[in-house]
Amino acid sequence: MSDFSIFSFTVLGSGYFSVLCAPASKASAIISSNLSVHALLSGNVFCGHCGARLHLSTANKCYTKADGTKVRKPRIRYVCYGKTRKITPCEGQSAYIQHKLDSMVEKVVKEIFERINGVPKSTIINSRCKEELAVRKANSKRLQTEYAKELEKLNKLREEVVKSIQGESAFSQSMLAGLVEDSEKKAESLKMQCEKAERDVESSKNTH
Ligand SMILES: [Zn+2]
Repeated sequence: MSDFSIFSFTVLGSGYFSVLCAPASKASAIISSNLSVHALLSGNVFCGHCGARLHLSTANKCYTKADGTKVRKPRIRYVCYGKTRKITPCEGQSAYIQHKLDSMVEKVVKEIFERINGVPKSTIINSRCKEELAVRKANSKRLQTEYAKELEKLNKLREEVVKSIQGESAFSQSMLAGLVEDSEKKAESLKMQCEKAERDVESSKNTH
């Protein structure tokens, strides 16, 4: 799912939609599989009211012409899967006319691409680098906190060993020795992870 991004939009009070955008490689697969049903968005657009997928539904609309001939006209709509199957407590409308929704989404997608085209490449790269740096910093901080906690635990265990030697602890020396060994191993591993995380932060800073 991380390969996809979701954007949401509203159109003239007619509803609130979320659209799943795929990267180019996956988009081509989605588009080709959906061309067979002539609706670009089936399964890739979500109801903004309940979050369920909108699926394609076809029904024939029958009417009689003035000369008396009966005409059947296929009607293609997107329907909220959650609402029609009563899976979600959806308060939105249950169906949206296909070509209307397709053109709404097409318009929004075009606008987004125009906006992206207007942004210099360096700005996109810079903001991506900043995000990366923030993630790496957070990871480094989390590991340092874990490492500090483990060192604290190790100190307490060592104090307990001293008490045990003096006959003042409820724990046996052999039991404490095992716990100290485990904690030492964990602390050592966390120390190495911290060092690596710190190097990652520095390399992010340098490439930025
Ligand atoms: Zn819904």
